[in-house]
Amino acid sequence: MDCIFCKIVAGQIPSDVLYTDDKVVAFRDISPMAPVHLLIIPQHHIASLTDLTEAQMSLVGHMAYVANQLAKQQGISEKGYRVVINCGRQGGQVVQHLHMHLLGGRELSGMLG
Ligand code: AMP
Repeated sequence: MDCIFCKIVAGQIPSDVLYTDDKVVAFRDISPMAPVHLLIIPQHHIASLTDLTEAQMSLVGHMAYVANQLAKQQGISEKGYRVVINCGRQGGQVVQHLHMHLLGGRELSGMLG
């Protein structure tokens, strides 16, 4: 499958992976918008939050918990951080593999900062 994030999961293209388990992989965004900018993605290809099935819904909770743990590990938990899932064209989704952004380490003003 021609999916850049599937290639990261498979180790076919380099990435700065910080965490992996049987469900997700977390790595640094290649074009960071904040001092800490990580992406948490499912190992299994799901194109978008729109495609999430009822049977898969616990996966998003798992991704959120991994974000919680990585925020602590990265030292941004106390001051605060932002978790974002862009969905679809108008939602600003560019990569068609479900991903959660974890952003922190600076003041994130406004709705998206
Ligand atoms: P989105 O706009 O929500 O689809 O975000 C996609 C994100 O993936 C952007 O922040 C990109 O900088 C990031 N990105 C794209 N390619 C890579 C890559 N090879 N490694 C790490 N991050 C990437």
